[in-house]
Order: sequence, then C-alpha cells, then structure tokens
Amino acid sequence: MKTIDIVVPCYNEEEVIRTFYGETKKVIGNIVDCIFRFIFIDDGSKDKTLDYIKEMAREDEAVKYISFSRNFGKEAGMYAGLRYSSGDYVIVMDADLQHPPYLIHKMIKEIENGYDCCAARRIKREDNEPLRNFFSKAYYKISNKLTNLELVQGAVDYRIMSRQMVDAVLELSEVQRFSKGIFEWVGFNTKWIPYDDVDRTMGETKWSFWGLLKYGMGGITAFSIVPLRVVTGMGFIISLFAFVYIAITLIKTFIYGIEVPGYVTLLSAVLFLGGIVELSLGIIGEYIGQIYMESKDRPIYLLKQTNIDADQVREKEGKK
Ligand code: UDP
Ligand code: MG
Repeated sequence: MKTIDIVVPCYNEEEVIRTFYGETKKVIGNIVDCIFRFIFIDDGSKDKTLDYIKEMAREDEAVKYISFSRNFGKEAGMYAGLRYSSGDYVIVMDADLQHPPYLIHKMIKEIENGYDCCAARRIKREDNEPLRNFFSKAYYKISNKLTNLELVQGAVDYRIMSRQMVDAVLELSEVQRFSKGIFEWVGFNTKWIPYDDVDRTMGETKWSFWGLLKYGMGGITAFSIVPLRVVTGMGFIISLFAFVYIAITLIKTFIYGIEVPGYVTLLSAVLFLGGIVELSLGIIGEYIGQIYMESKDRPIYLLKQTNIDADQVREKEGKK
C-alpha cells in the first residue's frame, strides 16, 4: 500500500474549501490501493477557512492542517506542506477546484509507471484574454532563454512527486521561493498531462497584474545572472561607441577648430546614458534586494496552530 499526502495551500477559501474536500474525497475513494492524507495549509486566512478545515479534521482523521500566524504566500504554504508530508508520493494542488481532482487517477498511474513526477499543464482557450496570453508566451520565451530552465507553457502547481523528488525540492530552502523554477531545477523525470482550463467558480483569484509581474521577475533573477551580464555588455558597447565618437570629434576639432552648436547631441547623449545607468542600477538592485532578503535568513513561515503530532512539529520546526 502506497501512502499519498495531498498538500493544499489555502488562503481565504471559505466558499470552496468544503466542496474541494468533498470532490477530492470522491475521487480518492475510488482508489483503494493507496492510503491518502490531506495536509491543508491555512495561509493566515481572514475568513472561516480554518474553522471549516478544523471541522473536516474532526470528522476525518486523514485531515491534517497547519495554520500560519499570518499570510505568507502560496509558496510558503507549499513549502510547509511538503516539509510535513511523509507519504511515498505527495500531491500538491489548489483549493479552488481549478485543479480538477479526477486527474489524480492518471497522475498516480504515471508515477507508478516509473516517473518521478507527473504534473498538469493547463491548455488555455486562446480566444480568452489575448493580451494575457501574449504576455505569458513572451515571458516563457524570455525566461527560458535567460535561465537554462525549460519552464513549460501552462504548467501549474498541480503535481504528484516521489518522496525522493520532494526531499530534493526541500533541499532548496531559499526564502524567496519560485516553485515553478525549483521543480524544474531539481531535475527528475516529469510526465506532463494536459487538461482544459477551468474557471474559478467560487472565491476569487489572489493575483493582481503587478503581483504577477513581480513574481515573474523574481523567477528570472532567482535562476539566472544573465541580466547582470547584459548590463556589462551594454556598458561595453556604449563605451566602444563613446571612444569612437570621441576620436572622431577630436580629429574634427583639430582640423576644423571648435564647433559650438551641439546642444541637441549633448542633451540626447546625457539623457540616453542617464536612462541606461538607471536601468543598470535597477537590475543590480534587484539582485542586491534578493541577497539582502536571503541574508536575513528569516523563516519561510511561522506556524500558529496544527493538529500534527507535537513531536513531529518540534522536529520539523527545530531545524528550519
Ligand atoms: N493561496 C495561498 N496563499 C496566498 C494566495 C493563494 O495559499 O497568499 C492559495 C489559494 O488558496 C489557492 C492557490 O494558492 O489554493 C492558488 O491561488 P489562486 O487561485 O488565487 O491563484 P490562481 O489559480 O489564480 O493562479
Ligand atoms: Mg486558482
């Protein structure tokens, strides 16, 4: 009998959490040769999410929960869930039913067939939000060029992983987590299974445009220093142009004497260089920001309540 932990990060999901539990329970009820356990992570919800989870835990011994002291973000939730997991396989999925539970059958089959991981890939309806699709496609192209990782278009954080892979993911204990990158970085064999995009019917998404942009930028700087090299390259090219231009100007001055007009050229050059310098500082700043945040070595999350064994909690939290 294989044991499987289902890790579910939840933030303000009171509208959907019980339906999620019911639907998922139906699916795993048909899988008789595995023992399942839920690990819900209440990421500092301000609504009744935790109350509902506790209610489920009272009725079902297989429901475990960890509740954070405040909202730490989904990445922290996934990390905590993986740390407390102990199953032979671990499934990570969202609470909002956008990750269809029926895929669990297929995922288990693939991992039993020898894959280390089986992950879901969302197939978007193209007519839906063309601008967002464009940005998303562009992001994957740029990010894959810069980082050496093969991020898969439409990949979502819905996957089953072997114990070995989960342990590998946990080895990457950075505070600024970008799981899409981490899952790729650790390697192992992943089988991708496509599924049709599901709209969120209850509750609402926690992502804003700026939130996504920041997340995406963080993903690139976390896995690549190519942007820093681009800064060096820009500096090099501009210096080269400057030298040539200075030489030409000097020669012209020697031959024709000093030429006074040149206001526009001067202003353009100053503004252009100013822009490049600001941009370069910004890119360098992104990395310094990351170093700063990582060097503090703060915990990724803080636990407030849980129904997991006190011994296990002590062991896990002791060596965070
Ligand atoms: N989530 C979380 N902490 C947060 C934001 C989201 O644990 O700060 C959870 C949320 O409850 C859901 C999953 O992460 O189970 C995905 O969130 P959401 O549906 O908002 O993202 P989307 O599906 O739009 O990418
Ligand atoms: Mg969602």
